[in-house]
Amino acid sequence: MTTIENQLQQTNARITDACAKAGRPAQAVQLLAVSKTFAAEAVLAALQAGQQAFGENYIQEGVEKIAAVRALCADLALTPALQWHCIGPMQSNKTRLVAENFDWAQTVDRLKIAERLSAQRPEELAPLQVCIQVNVDGGSTKAGVAPQQALELALAVARLPRLVLRGIMSIPDDAPGFEAQCALHQRAAAVFDAIKASGGTGLENFDTLSMGMTGDLEAAIMAGSTMVRVGSGIFGKRDYAR
Ligand SMILES: *Cc1c(COP(=O)(O)O)cnc(C)c1O
Repeated sequence: MTTIENQLQQTNARITDACAKAGRPAQAVQLLAVSKTFAAEAVLAALQAGQQAFGENYIQEGVEKIAAVRALCADLALTPALQWHCIGPMQSNKTRLVAENFDWAQTVDRLKIAERLSAQRPEELAPLQVCIQVNVDGGSTKAGVAPQQALELALAVARLPRLVLRGIMSIPDDAPGFEAQCALHQRAAAVFDAIKASGGTGLENFDTLSMGMTGDLEAAIMAGSTMVRVGSGIFGKRDYAR
């Protein structure tokens, strides 16, 4: 077994355990493998071990990797149903690359960005699946809409023709211990519940609460996460000097 295959299995086992502890079915939580800084070969190893959804933070790197993985798969005559999620900050000048290359964009925090993504999504592709990024702690992850503004933004995004609003995502700062982590994740869960309960138009597919990473996925699942984003737990420690 490769290291990646082994670590992927361990991560899936953590998710299953956390779901059991939270009294939730194991299928309630999807795993997004965060492959930023890792080569296309690492993605290939994960997909050969059964993983199909991948997240990238740096848009240019992501676009190049999507093409590289496609080429590797073609060489091996593999036709996986891959899903690519943009989970990094999106400047206006990068929206076209996201709209043309990714399946999901999880970091929408301004209407202007959403409007550009909708306008730039190519006709021949399925609508772009999006999450609103919410900043639940006002912390060092400055990106994200404030919780009080999330509903208004969500309802506006949900009306855009080439986007499907799928949910919200959050990246809370590190908190000391399980209880403190749960408390932060519960703030995001409350925003998710409020948007869902609003009954606005375009919320038919609003089903995704993207939160939890390698260090805090158990707390996120306890608080209701439906998608955990795990990088180092699958691929190992990142080397930014590369
Ligand atoms: C890097 C990153 C992750 C994964 O972090 P790990 O701690 O390596 O699991 C998840 N979400 C976002 C937005 C990230 O930037």
